[in-house]
Amino acid sequence: MSTADTSTVFLDLDETICEHPRSTADRLADAFDAAGVEPFFDVPDFRRRLARVTADSAVELREKCFAGIADELGRDPADALAVARAYEDPDPTEVEFLPGAEAALDALAAGHDLALVTNGDRETQRAKLAALGIEDRFAAATYAGSTGVVKPDPDPFHRTLSALGIEASEAVHVGNSLRSDVAGAQAAGMEAVWLARVEEDADCVPEYRIDSMRDLHAPPWV
Ligand SMILES: [Mg+2]
Repeated sequence: MSTADTSTVFLDLDETICEHPRSTADRLADAFDAAGVEPFFDVPDFRRRLARVTADSAVELREKCFAGIADELGRDPADALAVARAYEDPDPTEVEFLPGAEAALDALAAGHDLALVTNGDRETQRAKLAALGIEDRFAAATYAGSTGVVKPDPDPFHRTLSALGIEASEAVHVGNSLRSDVAGAQAAGMEAVWLARVEEDADCVPEYRIDSMRDLHAPPWV
């Protein structure tokens, strides 16, 4: 395993660098309530479907996810669409750093270039970076949600490597999703650090596992 030649650290944004103070679970519960539908699925179901769906907007993405879950469970698709439409998008300017994440960026930047590889759309993610005051921290940024080809497809990683003119062996990727971040980075030939905030089943094994962004204050690959 490498790594003295690791020059660059790729990072996911949502639930890796930052999060919303009001959780996805809270907002999903609100959406069921507002739609007058008895809750019939949970956030892990949502995340599981999310990795398999692409769409042009957040609403369309939710509609496809929720309808897919309803289909799996034999529930009324109309209920799923009502919940998808009642779900309120979080305000991107209200994001907060995960514990240790801001110091992790400082520590990593001392010895590496940083790049962002996120599945979100450019406008929303740029608003989060600005709110956090870190919009100038990344040598490259790929907003996969704006192109339709999202992690775990290796394309967002390949494009970021190309933008920086580096090889996959020179970078590691840090992210909170085994299915999107770890599998995607490995598909692009990179090593991956899994921020294991929530246990997740997947067919891939991360090269490194951390429990907190604080663990990056001394990078595990050095
Ligand atoms: Mg994430």
